[in-house]
Amino acid sequence: MSEKSKTTAAPVSNFIRNIIDSDLASGKYTNRGWGGKPGPAKTHANTPADPAKIRTRFPPEPNGYLHIGHAKSICLNFGLAQSYAGACHMRFDDTNPEKEEQEYVDSIIHAVQWLGFDWRENIFFASDYFDFMYEAAQYLIQSGHAYVDEQTAEQMRVSRGTLTEPGTASPWRERPAAESLQRFTEMRDGKHADGSMVLRSKIDMASPNINLRDPAIYRIRKATHHRTRDKWCVYPMYAYAHPIEDALERITHSICTLEFEDQRPFYDWLLLRLAEGSLLAQPLPQQIEFARLNLTYAVLSKRKLIQLVTEKHVEGWDDPRLPTLAGARRRGYTPQGFRLFAERIGVSRADSWIDYSVLEECMREHMNESAERRIAVLDPVKLIIDNYPKDQQEDCFAPNHPQKPELGKRTVPFTRELWIERDDFAETPPKGFFRLFPGNSVRLRYGYVVKCTGCDKDAQGNIVAVHCDYLPETKSGTPGADSVKVKGNIHWVSVAQAFAAEVRLYDRLFKLPHPGAGDKDFLLDLNPDSQKTITAQLEVALKDAKPEDRFQFERHGYFVADRVDSTPGAPKFNRAVTLRDSWKT
Ligand code: ATP
Ligand code: MG
Repeated sequence: MSEKSKTTAAPVSNFIRNIIDSDLASGKYTNRGWGGKPGPAKTHANTPADPAKIRTRFPPEPNGYLHIGHAKSICLNFGLAQSYAGACHMRFDDTNPEKEEQEYVDSIIHAVQWLGFDWRENIFFASDYFDFMYEAAQYLIQSGHAYVDEQTAEQMRVSRGTLTEPGTASPWRERPAAESLQRFTEMRDGKHADGSMVLRSKIDMASPNINLRDPAIYRIRKATHHRTRDKWCVYPMYAYAHPIEDALERITHSICTLEFEDQRPFYDWLLLRLAEGSLLAQPLPQQIEFARLNLTYAVLSKRKLIQLVTEKHVEGWDDPRLPTLAGARRRGYTPQGFRLFAERIGVSRADSWIDYSVLEECMREHMNESAERRIAVLDPVKLIIDNYPKDQQEDCFAPNHPQKPELGKRTVPFTRELWIERDDFAETPPKGFFRLFPGNSVRLRYGYVVKCTGCDKDAQGNIVAVHCDYLPETKSGTPGADSVKVKGNIHWVSVAQAFAAEVRLYDRLFKLPHPGAGDKDFLLDLNPDSQKTITAQLEVALKDAKPEDRFQFERHGYFVADRVDSTPGAPKFNRAVTLRDSWKT
């Protein structure tokens, strides 16, 4: 493994770290009233008092399960906080009452904790700030920076203009502040219907940036919120709420994906207005954008993921084929593998696609290091050693990890009848085939060299057993082991001692790298062979595997004992990733 790939390697620099380094060098945040000293403005119960040098946040909207794209953002935000002795806040952006649910809040908490990150006491909800946001909106009206617009949604859309044409002012734009204030109070008091009016900021209808053409900041929604219940029937827009949440929590670096770049001028405008009014303290947080993760053979859109689940194309949010973190966990992917992945793909401002194989390789690397080896025969056929005594059983010894002798060896029982992989035998060997065929010898790994003598077939011509003789002097670990040279080396388990278990062979959920490309329905690109359930023969040592124990099944790949369906003494295994990339063209 290269130095760079180790999870403990020094962090690779990137443009965000450069910004932080220069902010720390200039004392931008540390010298000006932050770091514990109260600022001149209002504080909120969530405003932290501890002197973190930098503060980031991970702000999911609780309207779906987290996916692999979120893992990039989580590793970035929590990782920066860790490496700069800062803090990262867990914040639920719950400003939209209709789509949010406690189930999503819980699943998000579990996913971030599973990835190995800790927000300490800093877990917040955007809805904690609804009172402040409402007051701030009143201030904007009073200071001439906002007005209630009673145009219809269609009128507003038309008067916003286009990329090439400026917008036109609403007839309500110059109404007196007192009138807007009264309307806003009525909106809050439920006196007006959903959609009948909105509160808009008053910036510049001719701005080349459409986001500055008086964007809406409050709307009427008579809906029950998952936390504030029926207290409010006006809700802040995301673009208005987010900067305020950041400022009240004294976030220093508000890191988001590139689609918010055009929102940054509004982010800055809003915070400056509220700082002028002494509602917020300087220095204000800064928004920094980076390119989101795009991953081939996957969809990273909450809408599409919800569709896959609700239309039952998969078996639930934690289906091991889904790119949700709940699915990845069940699949056997590891938190360390995700952190390695985040580090390896880095952060930049250039949009790009990451090949799914990069993620798989990170999982492989981590499990190669961490997973003990075991033996499983996935497509069993019997191998009968005709010259081995019928009732004899002896111990062979297999290392638990080839690079870690300290993990010791375990006993694998050797008997006259073994299970081997069906494709390790060929009646007529293709060119370059070094495994079992009549007349050829192979090593039974950790056991003896055997020479193939033939096979038995049923009436349909299917092979039901393979026959061989063993060479007693060739036992692994004895002086005679090297007396016979063979090219093939195959794995096996004892028929008498092995146990049958369900194993799920998962593959990519989509058969094409860009599902749905070219306006096609992405469901048409589902891989019909993404899941195959088999009954395998496993070595007896696997019987006690606990849910989420991971192993390398020799010659096959990395497998995990399913955390949902395994029962004591009867684990079921999921294939996380094969040993080699089988999709390489
Ligand atoms: P929505 O359309 O519901 O807003 P979203 O994917 O943006 O979906 P959020 O819950 O808003 O979901 O995301 C939380 C955070 O994760 C945001 O800061 C967002 O920028 C980041 N994020 C989401 N998708 C990706 C991605 N593919 N790569 C990197 N970061 C992402
Ligand atoms: Mg979002």
